[in-house]
Amino acid sequence: MTRILHRAIRTALPVAVGGRGVELFDADGNAYIDASGGAAVSCLGHGHPDVLASMHAQIDRLAYAHTGFFTSEAAEELADRLIAEAPAGLSHAYLVCGGSEAIEAALKMARQYFVEKGEPQRRHIIARRQSYHGNTLGALAAGGNEWRRAQFKPLLIETHHIDPCYAYRLQDGSESDEAYAARAAQQLEDKILELGAGEVIAFVAETVVGATSGAVPPVADYFKRIRAICDRYGVLLILDEVMCGMGRTGTLHACEQEGVAPDIMTLAKGLGGGYQPIGAVLLSRNIFEAFANGSGFFQHGHTYMGHPMAAAAALAVQEVVRRDNLLGNVVAMGDLLEHRLLDRFGNHHHVGDIRGRGLFRGIELVADRATKQPFGPDLKLNARIKKETMARGLMVYPMGGTIDGRLGDHVLLAPPFIVEREDIDRIVDRLGAAIDAAI
Ligand code: PLP
Repeated sequence: MTRILHRAIRTALPVAVGGRGVELFDADGNAYIDASGGAAVSCLGHGHPDVLASMHAQIDRLAYAHTGFFTSEAAEELADRLIAEAPAGLSHAYLVCGGSEAIEAALKMARQYFVEKGEPQRRHIIARRQSYHGNTLGALAAGGNEWRRAQFKPLLIETHHIDPCYAYRLQDGSESDEAYAARAAQQLEDKILELGAGEVIAFVAETVVGATSGAVPPVADYFKRIRAICDRYGVLLILDEVMCGMGRTGTLHACEQEGVAPDIMTLAKGLGGGYQPIGAVLLSRNIFEAFANGSGFFQHGHTYMGHPMAAAAALAVQEVVRRDNLLGNVVAMGDLLEHRLLDRFGNHHHVGDIRGRGLFRGIELVADRATKQPFGPDLKLNARIKKETMARGLMVYPMGGTIDGRLGDHVLLAPPFIVEREDIDRIVDRLGAAIDAAI
């Protein structure tokens, strides 16, 4: 009998004992193609020898030194690399242990920035419905997934939510992309004016929405309009690229494809590829200077932040991604994956939408393709798909999200950047068989 409080208490989990390339192995000898990289984490696959060598070298030198006393070579080098490749204006990196921690730090950084600037009246955070920013209380407050938030609401700081940019569900049939982008972004301006211009700290959004909606990219110009509205009211733009960042969509940062740069950006998952827990917050020079010229202190910190082992692992992962031109492979294999998904599911009665970028793809499952009617929660479709895919040696990330209080279902695919053509074929074949068995 296990003594671990697992996420799902009544489900017996297979025991993972090894991993090599795109596959994971369990104690019963089963192999699984990791077509979701866990939850869009394992960008280099498993057991990459160069990353392991770098981790070994680091642990031989230094495993840990508290960041209240020391910095480390690995952490400094990683910050240098992240900033050298960061969107314009981002000048410093704050290293943490994962995505939720990154969001917590980003929210506190944004609030402290305005306190340092003498604008303590700024107190509101605006985010989007159908979003996920992490499971700690601050990150959960920012998130807009009611299923995750409901029972914790009395403990959550007050945040305000507008609609996501979600063309499949929220764009009117007759509406152009341009008109929809304008309408969706206008919600932000309306919300800022409702709360009081000059009282809003930040707007938080995933550049390409991951866990709650299944790889939903924005329509063209949406983020340009969002950036302009933030600038108009002095509101900070926080882009959460914990899941969609670090190459997942084919460019290092997903916001490059939108032509915008945030004031604060959060990263995790693909940063360390799962070899170590690590996240980062990249912040603008303005924010850094407000701290440097003000209190001289960021009022935050965790015991394991800037961990040398995590930094060494992330550096090695990022080195391999560049050296082996894996972003090129993300684009090529991402295109192939899209084509294969369209071939297999393009006319499927229960597939309403196929979307995404690079190796970040989602399909939305519906009871009726013509009406877009979701299945609803009673079918427990995500659990069924997980069971059927695992039985076929495939890991995908199936989720139910909330759409106007109803549940919608999708499957997220985020295979490692080293994936090859035959892997893509095997992934789509197995997924097709699993979905047909589950519905
Ligand atoms: N932000 C986004 C967009 C995420 O997808 C996630 C996790 O899925 C998080 C934040 C939280 O990251 P973590 O699970 O590392 O705390």
